[in-house]
This record gives sequence, structure tokens and C-alpha cells, in this order.
Amino acid sequence: MWFRRDLRLDDNAALHHALKSARRVYCAFVFDRAILDELLAAGLRHDRRVDFIHRSLRELDAELRACGGALIVRHGFAADEIVRLAGELRVDAVFTNHDYEPYAVERDSAVAARLAAVGRKLHTFKDQVIFERDEVLTGAGRPFSVFTPYKNAWLKALTPFYLRSYEVRRHVSALAPPPVPAALPMLEDIGFAPTDLDELKVATGASGGRRLFEEFTSRIDRYAQARDYPAVRGPSYLSVHLRFGTVSIRELARFAHERAATSPGAATWLSELIWRDFYQQILHHHPQVVTRSFKPEYDRIQWDDAPELFAAWCEGRTGYPLVDAAMAQINRTGYMHNRLRMVTASFLTKDLGIDWRRGERYFARRLIDYDLAANNGGWQWAASSGCDAQPYFRIFNPVAQSEKFDPEGKFIRRYLPQLAHLSAQEIHAPWLLPPLRQREAGCVIGADYPAPVVDHAQARQRTLARYAVVKSR
Ligand SMILES: Cc1cc2nc3c(=O)[nH]c(=O)nc-3n(C[C@H](O)[C@H](O)[C@H](O)COP(=O)(O)OP(=O)(O)OC[C@H]3O[C@@H](n4cnc5c(N)ncnc54)[C@H](O)[C@@H]3O)c2cc1C
Repeated sequence: MWFRRDLRLDDNAALHHALKSARRVYCAFVFDRAILDELLAAGLRHDRRVDFIHRSLRELDAELRACGGALIVRHGFAADEIVRLAGELRVDAVFTNHDYEPYAVERDSAVAARLAAVGRKLHTFKDQVIFERDEVLTGAGRPFSVFTPYKNAWLKALTPFYLRSYEVRRHVSALAPPPVPAALPMLEDIGFAPTDLDELKVATGASGGRRLFEEFTSRIDRYAQARDYPAVRGPSYLSVHLRFGTVSIRELARFAHERAATSPGAATWLSELIWRDFYQQILHHHPQVVTRSFKPEYDRIQWDDAPELFAAWCEGRTGYPLVDAAMAQINRTGYMHNRLRMVTASFLTKDLGIDWRRGERYFARRLIDYDLAANNGGWQWAASSGCDAQPYFRIFNPVAQSEKFDPEGKFIRRYLPQLAHLSAQEIHAPWLLPPLRQREAGCVIGADYPAPVVDHAQARQRTLARYAVVKSR
């Protein structure tokens, strides 16, 4: 059993099938140098995701040991390591769960071919989504590119079969202690260093995912009202667990679906889980979105290079408090609230005129829950270049967004203490305050806090002109 983004024992599709069909099952995980070397080259030795995985593996290994097995952990190029390990263990087959990212698809087909060449099989299963690939199609048999009809078809196709739990505990007698070295390396052994996950109170492993989900079940009914306000504990914060499979999507969707008829909060949350499936199937059917606009005409847009504006955005120095507080959140914690992901992505593309791909890459490095399909989908939505995206002439006003979604400025104050003494009315656009008031509140624009790097009204006009190429032909 080859674990990847499914770091849990319970309700794990591939593990269930392996245990049911084999007399002896060994479990393995590879710290894949094809991914990790890039992080190290980018200077990300203190990467929270690697730390999250490492901690989650420690827990998984302990659980496997309690059931008579253990986790074999290797560090190398995943395809090489898995093929070699399969030989060392002399297994008939390798079991694993689907991964829809282009790199993973290529890697897995190489592994399948190399295993087949020596008479071994690769068995793969759907595990991280409810519906995958071609399971939800339009009446004409085409993939959906608009969310609402996809969601309706998704809900229509849903039966208890798709939400079932894969029993693992009953079959663990097949787990075998590995006859090869199995110890989990230290983070330092693979070139990384521990991070501040404890300080940030990020609960790791399947136990962390379970606690967080249980806590969220008491708040889910209020999700629809609370989810848009970054100062409030509205969302579930389960994204990192969904990313690494330390929770089961089927368990989450089952809970939300059972409650949806009577709870608008649960119905709204279920929709978000459907968005997740939606973007995964977009990535499967349109892998070119990784580098290109979903709507090809949007690649005619001429973006600005603007290195200074880009640096101001990355570092949270744009002079727009909500944008800067949001960038401080991602930079300090590796998480950003969904509303703020929309606001900051819109600001980069439509106020600063910078290519969505640069923002997408920045988020990819910083987010602990970074997921190629969701991040790409979110960025292309904000840039209007994506499937079912925001129309290009709808441009978020960063001050209006701030007044609406952080009305008292609580979130802004949490991340930008230099604005703490401004009132709820003043905090959204501090450059409008008279100099005397700025001095009195300890927030002089240009000294304590930057002046806006662009004028929103002018930027809006430039964006409308920039995007005009989209409709001109
Ligand atoms: C520009 C941009 C970039 C984004 N990048 C990512 C990313 O890298 N990884 C990621 O998981 N999500 C991403 N999202 C989607 C969303 O912002 C996060 O999933 C959410 O903020 C995570 O917090 P939560 O777990 O508390 O969410 P909740 O509100 O509790 O939602 C529950 C789950 O539903 C899924 N979900 C929610 N919204 C979306 C969405 N719009 N698209 C796909 N899945 C969704 C996530 O798995 C999330 O954990 C991005 C959105 C935007 C606009």
C-alpha cells in the first residue's frame, strides 16, 4: 500500500482493497524528491507542509504498528523508490489512491509500466473526491465547465454508495511488519527543519483532522452566515486535512449531506466540497490550465511586469488595509480566509495588472493547504480567465470589501497593529484622514503605514481597457 495524499488508516479506499485482497500487506510512503528538491531550491527548508506530513506519518506509523504493521518511509524519487521497494518486498501488486495532478498522473503511469515490466500490478482507487473524472458529465456526455449545473448533476448522481465508508479495522490482520528498514527519518535527514505548527495550533494527523471536524460540527449550522467574515471563526479550517487526506471526504460529505435538508449552513458547506470536486475534474479534463487560461482568449491580455508592485503585494504593503492584513495572514500562518483569497487575487490582477500566474505561484509556496486544482481554479476565477469565473468587468473594490466583510476592522487590527487606534469608520481607507487625525491615532500615512500603491478608480479603468482585448475579436 503506497500512501500519498491519504495519510489515514480509516476509510481509506486503497488500503481497504489491499487488506481485503492480499494475504500480507506492507505500507509505504516516499518523501518524493521530485517535489521536495524544488521546495529546497526555493529556500523553503522550514516548510509547514513537509512538517505536517512528517507529523501525520508519525501518527500513521504508530497506528499501523498497533495493528501489527509499520510504515516503510523512503526518501528519493517516488517512481524509483516504489519500483525498487516492490522488488525488495517481492510483492505481487502495489495499491494506491488516485491523484489527478498532471505530475502525479505521469508518475503513476510510469510506475505502472515499470511494475508491469517485472510482472507486478499497480491497482488504483478513487479516494480523495466523491466523483472523479467522467463520473459526472452533461447530458451530452461532456465535462461540465459551469459550477451550478455540475452541482445539480453531482447531487442527482449521489447515492449512499458514493458516501460509504471503507472498512479497514476489520481486515488489519493482513498488515505485516516489514522485513526491510522502516524507520521514519528525521525532518533534518531529508533536508528540512521543524516549523511553528504548534505555535499556530495546527492539529496534524488523522487525530487532528477528527478533532477539528468534531469541533466544526457544532458550528456548521451557522456556516452560511459566518463564513464570509475573516474575523469570525466561520469556516472549518479542514483544507489542510483534505489536502493530505487526514480526513475522509466521504465522512465529511455524508455528514453535510444528511444535514443539508434542514441546515442551510450544512447545505452551503456541502457546496464548497462540491467546488472541490468540480476543480479536480476541471484539472483532469483540462490539464493545460496549469499554465494557460481556461478561456484561451484571456491569454491575449498584456500584464504589467511591475516588480515593485508585486513585492508590495507579496509583503502586504499596498496601503489597502484589508489586502495587507490578508497577506500578513498568509505570510505568518500559511492560511488565508477564502474571502480574502478572492480579495487579494482580484487586487493583484485587477488593481495591479499583474498576471494571475505570479499570484498563483506565490500562494502555492505559502499555503499549507495548497492544492493545485483549487488554487488554480480560485486564481482563474478571480482573474476572470477561468471556467465559470467572475466576469472581467466585475472588479472588487478593496475598500468596499473591507467595509462589508470586516466592518469593525477586527481582522485588520489583528494583523496590522499600527492601525489599531483607528475607528471602525476610519480603518478601511486611512489615507483619507486629515494629517492631524493620523498623528493622533499614531498612524501617519507614509511613515507608519504606506500610502495606497494605486488609486482604485484609475486602476479599474486601466483594467477595463486591458481586458478589452478579450472581446475585441
Ligand atoms: C485565489 C484562491 C486560491 C485558493 N487556493 C486554494 C488552495 O490552494 N487549496 C484549497 O484547498 N483551497 C483553495 N481555495 C479555496 C478556499 O479558499 C479554501 O479551500 C478555503 O479557504 C479553506 O478553508 P476552510 O477549510 O476553512 O474552508 P471551508 O469553508 O470550511 O470549506 C470546506 C472545504 O471545501 C473546499 N473548498 C472550499 N472552497 C473551495 C473552492 N473555492 N474551491 C475548491 N475547494 C473549496 C476546501 O477543501 C475546504 O477545506 C482558494 C480560493 C481562492 C479564491
